[in-house]
Amino acid sequence: MADGDAIEPLPDDLEPVREALLSWYEREHREFPWRETTDPYRILVSEVMSQQTQLDRIVDPWAAFVDRWPTVEALAAADRADVVAFWSDHSLGYNNRARYLHEAAGQVLDEFDGEFPSDPETLQALQGVGPYTANAVASFAFDDGDAVVDTNVKRILYRAFDVPDDDAVFERVAGEIMPGGESRAWNNAIMELGGVVCQQTPECDGEGCPWREWCHAYQTGDFTAPDVPTQPSFEGSRRQFRGRVVRALGEHDELSLDDLGPKVRVDYAPEGEHGREWLRGLLSDLADDGLVEVESRDGGEPVARLRR
Ligand code: SF4
Repeated sequence: MADGDAIEPLPDDLEPVREALLSWYEREHREFPWRETTDPYRILVSEVMSQQTQLDRIVDPWAAFVDRWPTVEALAAADRADVVAFWSDHSLGYNNRARYLHEAAGQVLDEFDGEFPSDPETLQALQGVGPYTANAVASFAFDDGDAVVDTNVKRILYRAFDVPDDDAVFERVAGEIMPGGESRAWNNAIMELGGVVCQQTPECDGEGCPWREWCHAYQTGDFTAPDVPTQPSFEGSRRQFRGRVVRALGEHDELSLDDLGPKVRVDYAPEGEHGREWLRGLLSDLADDGLVEVESRDGGEPVARLRR
């Protein structure tokens, strides 16, 4: 691709794409107490804790931390050794993070008159707060962040919109797709999608991904991504296709292989690698499970239907 060539992988009309993700998030998201607050101090604590630990494992330590030091003033006044001891007692990873958090609380009081800075740039002045954490706090506390671009987001954009593996392009596309002024809801939603649906082995149908109708990977069956260099487990992707066969047959009384194939994958070609042979294999698994029957009438072309 020549320098300066535009890469426009996103659909022309972004509104339905945005709306699908935001309403999915509204309905389905996991509830975490730091998602119920806009207090930058509490959000910063959750961000620092989650740098090394999964979200569901920090619920209790987070609650205990903000119970013990409920405000930035309280944390700044704490003895650093107590904060570090809390960190290691709760197995929260590198103790330096506790030291930095304590230091950052002091900075908010001394350098910012007790008011958290609200933009990603200034937030980075706080000890231990890098660009990612600064943007997360700006988004979740002040609704004033940029689009988050982490491994999860890259994986989603790469799969869904065939975005090339290039950080500058990821950043541009992530910014374009985020609705203006909605960084709190949007960043939460896309990170949740990466955390529970578009994981390394995606759960497109199982978790009802809201982007299936636009998703390039879903159409082609190629679920590789920058952090998933080889096709995720065969069973994972095969399960997706089985789901699609069942859905397509649910909408029709019966379908011949060549009518069914293109509804299951866009690159279906009767004689190709993903053609009749491949489809017969899927149908035979589904028949073994008692979900589908395949019949060849008078030796003609086989048709598939749901077993009812
Ligand atoms: S349809 Fe599947 S691959 Fe595509 S974005 Fe959703 S979970 Fe990821």
